[in-house]
Amino acid sequence: MTHNLLIIKGDGIGPEVVSAARVVLENLNLDLHFEEAKAGYACYQEVGDPIPQATIDAARQADATLFGAVTTPPDIPKYRSAVVTLRKELDLYANLRPVRSLGLKGAHYRDNLDFYVVRENTEGLYSGQEEVDGDTAIAKRIITKKGSERIVRYAFELAKRTGKRKVTVVHKANVLRLTDGLFRRTALGVAAEYQADGIEVQELLVDTMAMRLIKDPENFEVIVTTNLFGDILSDEASELVGGLGVAASGNIGVSGAIFEPVHGSAPDIAGKGIANPLATFLTTVMLLQHIQESAAAERLQNAITKVIAEGTLTPDLGGSSNTIQVRDRVIELLG
Ligand code: ATP
Repeated sequence: MTHNLLIIKGDGIGPEVVSAARVVLENLNLDLHFEEAKAGYACYQEVGDPIPQATIDAARQADATLFGAVTTPPDIPKYRSAVVTLRKELDLYANLRPVRSLGLKGAHYRDNLDFYVVRENTEGLYSGQEEVDGDTAIAKRIITKKGSERIVRYAFELAKRTGKRKVTVVHKANVLRLTDGLFRRTALGVAAEYQADGIEVQELLVDTMAMRLIKDPENFEVIVTTNLFGDILSDEASELVGGLGVAASGNIGVSGAIFEPVHGSAPDIAGKGIANPLATFLTTVMLLQHIQESAAAERLQNAITKVIAEGTLTPDLGGSSNTIQVRDRVIELLG
């Protein structure tokens, strides 16, 4: 079966890491068809739009999209963030961040961690509804029953699919009584449906969760929460296993799936050939799982684990290899 993949390279180190990932994908002997589309600041400078409609349409039509990184300039009024626009247009409601020990020297947890953070991606404090009234500025925190239900269901389905036995629902319903009250009630309702599957539900206040991620992160399997809490907790969690250079993510939803490394466009090292491609390769593992090429996903994951173990790494992870050397070694280790 042919899989139609869209590649959006973006700006800065985006083209370097995504091109490396494309070569890796081409070496997996799968039936893949690639399209490329533009987005980001360079695209804005070229065509006057950071996220042209043709790119949105291509992402909607693809089986999955691999997205590099884009620079979002702060000083252009009405500039649309490419990623935020894609999330909204394609209703990509689930932001998935695996947190898995990779054997990295220097990581807080070299071994033993394997859990997911599932973040609601379309509402909460990212509603985009802000107003100023004199000296008061207000942001609306939108929580809906529909939005809560589908993200919690996604978390339980993920648990079922990946053999996890516990889902932790994170909220602040003791203070945010109406918004997180609704999120909590809805989550517990969904959880009841999965009792028969033997998946346990746990609830934690977000402040306790932030502390427990430092204290005993090995006790978590799937964490599900609202947008801003998820944003913060997933960055905290990624630091446990090695940080930005190895943090992968997926935006999955109704009309598409976009996979992107968590890091940005890193203009300070762009063009130097030393960008770490591992976060994008781990993102590619997620993409392969999504298109149900699980054997290929496992081969790539194993090759990544091996390059880390032997120390073929870029300077940000303490190695002396460049992007292409890491890429080529991963391809050799695919077997
Ligand atoms: P943006 O403005 O697009 O968010 P940024 O560079 O400000 O980009 P980050 O992605 O958070 O934001 O990166 C912070 C720093 O970490 C970068 O400046 C770079 O030095 C380093 N870095 C990030 N990603 C990588 C990578 N893949 N390989 C090597 N270094 C990286």
